[in-house]
Amino acid sequence: MFDNSVKWPNGARCAVMLTFDFDAETLWTSRNEANWTRPGILSQGRYGAKVGVPKILDTLDEAGVPATFFIPGWTVENHSARCEAVLKAGHEVAHHSYSHRWVSDDPAAEVEEFEKGLEAFKTVLGVRPRGYRSPAGEVSAGLFKLLAEHNMLYNSSLMDDVMPYRHRFNDGAAGPVELPWHWSLDDAPYALFAVANPRPIFTNEHMFKVWTDEFREIYRWGGLFNIIFHPQITGRPSRIALLRELIAFIKTFPDVWFATGTDVAEAWIAAGEPEAR
Ligand SMILES: [Zn+2]
Repeated sequence: MFDNSVKWPNGARCAVMLTFDFDAETLWTSRNEANWTRPGILSQGRYGAKVGVPKILDTLDEAGVPATFFIPGWTVENHSARCEAVLKAGHEVAHHSYSHRWVSDDPAAEVEEFEKGLEAFKTVLGVRPRGYRSPAGEVSAGLFKLLAEHNMLYNSSLMDDVMPYRHRFNDGAAGPVELPWHWSLDDAPYALFAVANPRPIFTNEHMFKVWTDEFREIYRWGGLFNIIFHPQITGRPSRIALLRELIAFIKTFPDVWFATGTDVAEAWIAAGEPEAR
């Protein structure tokens, strides 16, 4: 049983992370490289950069809330103006591999993807991300050592909690802080459509219901509400309205703290790393 023992800043009861996985075209090429030659398919990803990110930045600005954008290195290199706009608006940018390749069975590829992605942030944006999220939640067994070697503050790839926790190695050494997520708090399962894998597109009402039901209970537990949006999905007109309505709903609750991944990880460490049950 959770006992709400995390002391979030300013006496907040619940931390809210609005996160945007800015995959752009890589969402469509990471599982099928042949898609690089299919302009129609790629255009779905490009929408996220062209229209989605500016609309999302406007919406966040109007609401006055911070966000974290997890960005593959390829997107940093190919949509650099949009990434710079994210930084200029005061949001956090975090690491999301290089090409969005799924590497669960290939630790060497994970290292390559990680280092190449880091280099893109340094070269193009002049920043060093402090957090990492794996593409589609797929990680190899070597990830946590890799993150520790690169001194990453946090990871947001696993689904085994609704509170932050600390990864520990067999020798007791500290790894990164985990900021867990879950598919239910992600726009993709409800609204990402692909002809090759057709699924129903859900209404805003359906998504709002699942997300606000999750929020109410996480708020009660005093946990971390860590939600994932994709600019190419949530950047659609009706979904921008959903984002605005979700933020407004959360704001009706007292003592909610909207924060970036780095802010949440640092606050949890400052609170003494409580893993309350
Ligand atoms: Zn992604």
